[in-house]
Amino acid sequence: MKEIKQDLQKLGIKLGDIILIHSSLKSMGYVIGGADAVIDAFLETLGNGGSIVMPTFTMGKEPFTPKRTASRVGKITEVFRQRKGVLRSCHPTHSIAAYGPKAEYLTKDHNETMGPFVKDGPLGKLVELDSYILFLGCGMGPNTMLHGVEDWIGLPYLKGYEAPVEDDKGEIKKVLVPKRAPGHRDFYSSGSGKIERRLGRSNIIKEGNIGEAKVQLVKARELVKAVITFMQENPTILLCDNDDCQFCFKAKELVKNWLNSGNRVKDFKGIFPLIEKNSI
Ligand SMILES: [Zn+2]
Repeated sequence: MKEIKQDLQKLGIKLGDIILIHSSLKSMGYVIGGADAVIDAFLETLGNGGSIVMPTFTMGKEPFTPKRTASRVGKITEVFRQRKGVLRSCHPTHSIAAYGPKAEYLTKDHNETMGPFVKDGPLGKLVELDSYILFLGCGMGPNTMLHGVEDWIGLPYLKGYEAPVEDDKGEIKKVLVPKRAPGHRDFYSSGSGKIERRLGRSNIIKEGNIGEAKVQLVKARELVKAVITFMQENPTILLCDNDDCQFCFKAKELVKNWLNSGNRVKDFKGIFPLIEKNSI
C-alpha cells in the first residue's frame, strides 16, 4: 500500500483532491491486500478532506437495487461500494459510488428519472468541482465523461432504454432511462481511439505508473474543454470509421441531419457559464 501511495503522490494527487477512478485490478499485478489495499492507499493520499468516486455501473442487465446489485466495472469498484460510509447513487444502469465530504452531493438525485450522464448528475458535478479523472490500468476506453459531453452538446444518437429495477419489497418493474449511450464508440478501444490520439498531443494527460499498471490522469474540466473544442471541428470524432459498424454509420447520419437542421456544437461556456465566469 505504501508503494501505491507513493505512486499516487508522484502523479500529483494530494490531500483534499476529488477523484473519479476507472480501474483494472488485474493490470496492477499481484497486490498484497488486493482491492482493499488499493482503496486504502487512495483514502490515505486524499485524507479526510478528499473524495473518491467510482463507477458501479450495472448496465441494466439485471434488476437494480442499490444495496445489492454488483458493479460490473471491476473488482475495485465492487469492493469500494461495499465499504462502510460509501454512498451509492440509485441510477438503474450507471450508478456511482462515492466517499468523502462530496459523496452526498455527487450521489444524490442520480436516479431512474434522469439520463445517466446529464449535467446535473455526477459527471457535470465532477466538472464543476474541478475533480481529477484517473484511468488505473484500464486505458482511456472507459472514459464515461465523453458520454457526458455527448449528452450536454445534445447529440442526437443518445437513446432511452428500459431497465429493470427492484423496489424495497422485492417487486420488479421496468423504467425508461432517458438518454443512455447505446452502441459503439471509437474511443472504447483504449490506446487507439481518435480522441485519445488528439488528447495525447494536447499535454493535458499526465501519464505514470501505479505498481505494474500504466495510468493516465486528467482534470475533468480540462478534458471536457478539450473534447468540446475537438468536437466543434469534428462532431463525429467519438464515432468509429469502420465500414462494418452499423451503429456508428447510422449515428453519423443522425449527426449530419442534426447539423443540417441548424444545430451547432456548443462551446464550454455555453454548457458551463458559471465556471467560465469564475475562471476569468
Ligand atoms: Zn463503431
